[in-house]
Amino acid sequence: MPHIGTMIFTLSAIAMFLVSSALETDASMKRKRLLVVDYTQGFRHTEGIEAGEPVLQAMGEKSGAFSVDYCRTAEDVKEMLTPEHLKKYDGIIFLNTTGDLGIPDLNAFLKWIKEGHAFIGMHSATDTYRDPAHAAYIDMIGGEFRTHHNQCEVKPVHDDPQHPAVKPIPADFKITDEIYLFTKTDRKKLHVLLSTPQCPPDGSEEAGKPGDYLLAWCKMYGKGRVFYSAFGHRKDVWDNEVIQRHMLGGIEWALGQVKGDSAPSSSSD
Ligand SMILES: [Zn+2]
Repeated sequence: MPHIGTMIFTLSAIAMFLVSSALETDASMKRKRLLVVDYTQGFRHTEGIEAGEPVLQAMGEKSGAFSVDYCRTAEDVKEMLTPEHLKKYDGIIFLNTTGDLGIPDLNAFLKWIKEGHAFIGMHSATDTYRDPAHAAYIDMIGGEFRTHHNQCEVKPVHDDPQHPAVKPIPADFKITDEIYLFTKTDRKKLHVLLSTPQCPPDGSEEAGKPGDYLLAWCKMYGKGRVFYSAFGHRKDVWDNEVIQRHMLGGIEWALGQVKGDSAPSSSSD
């Protein structure tokens, strides 16, 4: 017959073990897995990529929302961006990718997003697969990089102040970055999050011209969720806590962890 004290100790140790494993299971169920792709076939944003990688990783760890793996080389792209390998991920981040990345089957990759995975694009993710042969990629992300001029300061309009990617941004927030100008953006297809009603003061002939200059948006793609932010060229943009909260909100929305509207900004009458 074991000593009563030993029995109580053993039982409470078992109970503690069960509670802690239940907590672990719960946490791992909540934490999503993201693959960060930063391979480039065109211009390489060394500064933005080197700054973005650790910021995204720390963001995931600190929030407990996601963990990241990296896909950095042509070989990684061939091995990792296949429907088979992507089975272990909840979504993907294109961190300053450029050009034709060499995804083995681009249509299969897009189908994987459509089936209910997250696609998060940052800065030059819209300067990726711009060849008309790959129009399906631009259609998925919702806009195509047209050009940029000098880096400059913008004060974004909050198109959806309640969206988790916009809510953390103070109303008077300003930021200096390389501001992208787009083509193929359409408010009838996008839920615009941030924009500016004039071309940013980028030193070009277009500067100050009235128009609809988008800075961030989201959209549904089949059952998948797409979030795009044009920010992320400069290191100090990645280090900016407001931008980090903007990106985290967008990522959590794309992963389905937080709610936010994705209806097109203009009705298609
Ligand atoms: Zn750039």
